[in-house]
Amino acid sequence: MADLGNPKKTIEILNKYKFIFQKKFGQNFLIDTHVLDKIIKAAEISKEDFVLEIGPGIGTLTQYLCEHAREVLAVEIDRMLIPILEDTLSSYDNVTVLNEDILKVDLNQIIQLKNGGKAIKVVANLPYYITTPIIMGLLEQQIPLKNITVMVQKEVADRMQASPGSKDYGALSLAVQYYAKPYIAANVPPNCFMPRPNVGSAVIKLTLHDKPPVEVKDETLLFSLIRASFNQRRKTLVNGLTNSADLAFTKEQIIEALNQIALPENIRGEKLTLEQFAQLANALSN
Ligand code: SAM
Repeated sequence: MADLGNPKKTIEILNKYKFIFQKKFGQNFLIDTHVLDKIIKAAEISKEDFVLEIGPGIGTLTQYLCEHAREVLAVEIDRMLIPILEDTLSSYDNVTVLNEDILKVDLNQIIQLKNGGKAIKVVANLPYYITTPIIMGLLEQQIPLKNITVMVQKEVADRMQASPGSKDYGALSLAVQYYAKPYIAANVPPNCFMPRPNVGSAVIKLTLHDKPPVEVKDETLLFSLIRASFNQRRKTLVNGLTNSADLAFTKEQIIEALNQIALPENIRGEKLTLEQFAQLANALSN
C-alpha cells in the first residue's frame, strides 16, 4: 500500500535509516498526497504503461507509480537511498531500482530490453540542479516517449510554456515546444516538500509530438540560431546572429534572409515564433 505521502511516515523512515539529506543531489521529498494524486492523473498512468522515474528518493512517488503502472524503473544516484527503497518498495513486484546517474544511463538500450522499444512515460519530482539537461537529454536523444510529467521549479515551467512576447520566452521555450506540447498541470508550494525548497514548484506535462510542428532542412542550424538570438537578448536579431561564434553568416546574408521571410531588419529574436525561426533557418541554409 502507498503509505509514504505524509510528513509523519516520511520522518519515521528518515529516522529509521538515519538518512542525511544531500543538498548536492537536490533532495526535496514530497509529503503531500494531493500532489502525488495530481501527478499520476496528469501523466495518465494506466496498467499498460512502462514508467521511468528519475530520482525516487525514499520511494514516495514510486509507490504511487507501482500501484497504477504495469512496470516501473526507478533510477536513483544516491546509494544511501537504495536500502531504504528496498524496504519501502518491498511489497511491489513491478519495480526495478537502478543505482545510477540518470545522465549516464543508456535509456534507448533499456527501453529496447525492457519494453521491446515501445514508447514509455517519464514521471519525476526532478532534482532542480539538473532539470534542463535531463529534459533536453530526453527530448534530443529521441527516446521513445509518450509523455514526460515532472515537478520542476515554477520559473522553469513558465519558461517551457512561454509564447513570444512574454518575458519568460527564450531558447528553452522553443527547444521544448519543437519536441512537445507543454501544459502546467499544478502549482505546488514549498510546504509540500521535506525539506522545503526556496522556490515555488510546478508539475508540467510534456506530450511528445508525433512529428515536429515545423519543417526544417537543418535542425542543428535552427537550434544554433535560437541559442545565438537569446544569448544576446538586448540586441537585434541581426546583431545577435552576426556576433555569434557558432555561426558564420555575414550581416548582409542575414538581412537578405529576413527580407525573404518578410521580417523587419531591426526585429529582436524574442519576437520570433518557432515557425519564423524555422523559416529563417531554411532561408539561410539555401
Ligand atoms: N521522488 C522523490 C520524492 O518525490 O519524494 C525524491 C525527489 S528529489 C526532488 C530528487 C531525487 O533525485 C533525489 O532522490 C536525488 O537523490 C535524486 N537524484 C539527484 N541527481 C540524480 C541523478 N543525476 N540521477 C538520478 N537521480 C538523481
